[in-house]
Amino acid sequence: MIELEGAVALVTGGSRGIGRAVAERLVECGGRVAIIGRDEEAATSAAASMGDSSTVIGVRADVSQTAEVADAVAEAETQLGPIDILINNAGLARDGVVVRMSEDQWDTVVDVNLKGAFNTIKAVARGMMKRRSGRIVNISSVVGLTGNRGQANYAASKAGLIGLTKSVAKELASRGILVNAVAPGFITTDMTDDLPEAARTALLGQIPLGRLGAPADVANAVVFLSSPLADYITGQVIVVDGGMVM
Ligand code: NAD
Repeated sequence: MIELEGAVALVTGGSRGIGRAVAERLVECGGRVAIIGRDEEAATSAAASMGDSSTVIGVRADVSQTAEVADAVAEAETQLGPIDILINNAGLARDGVVVRMSEDQWDTVVDVNLKGAFNTIKAVARGMMKRRSGRIVNISSVVGLTGNRGQANYAASKAGLIGLTKSVAKELASRGILVNAVAPGFITTDMTDDLPEAARTALLGQIPLGRLGAPADVANAVVFLSSPLADYITGQVIVVDGGMVM
């Protein structure tokens, strides 16, 4: 059993899907968690389902908005204490081939998926540096490694997260802060619910382990990287995809 002993974690987009599974796992391991979400009601009700308000809280912020993120981090630290673990999970897709992609489609995806992580890292890094300890895990995607037709904006944002992860890992290593990324493959969540049955079957054929992933599969890797078991791991990308990309 991974033991997090009251460590305070901040999980963006933790109201549902992978982020929710990560928040639940962190709580199970003894962590205290602030769930950041765009929808305050969704974030608070997810939090309430996991524990009382001394253990897990919901705080509203759109991660693409620098000032909102700074306020949300301050609120989380007031209620739970200094952030030990940051999980950058909030993300979205606005798919389309590049010749038909609007500027708005591009900006929305890059602002949430990539700038959102920059915003939260800025908001927590100084405190972690002072305390000379911290963990940051960024949720990328296998698409950030391989590219994907119709997802230039999403793939660029997820590849960007890997560059961000490695750069910040190098900048903060001497302060005892470890920064890694997890790149999920195809995980069944609201984000992937719309996929037509034929495409789902075709995808299954490319997954050596023969099943789609569950949010808990990703959460396990994230919690490992947040724990003392990963004390000598930084700047890495762990792919959680049933062997699809190797
Ligand atoms: P999801 O759509 O179920 O959850 C995404 C969460 O992020 C939601 O709670 C949403 O409200 C939140 N969010 C979106 N924009 C936000 C914003 N501006 N500010 C704050 N919160 C915001 O999706 P998911 O499948 O659970 O995805 C979680 C992460 O995993 C995403 O970064 C996604 O890109 C990544 N990922 C998912 C898969 C997959 O197959 N599901 C694969 C690879 C990577």
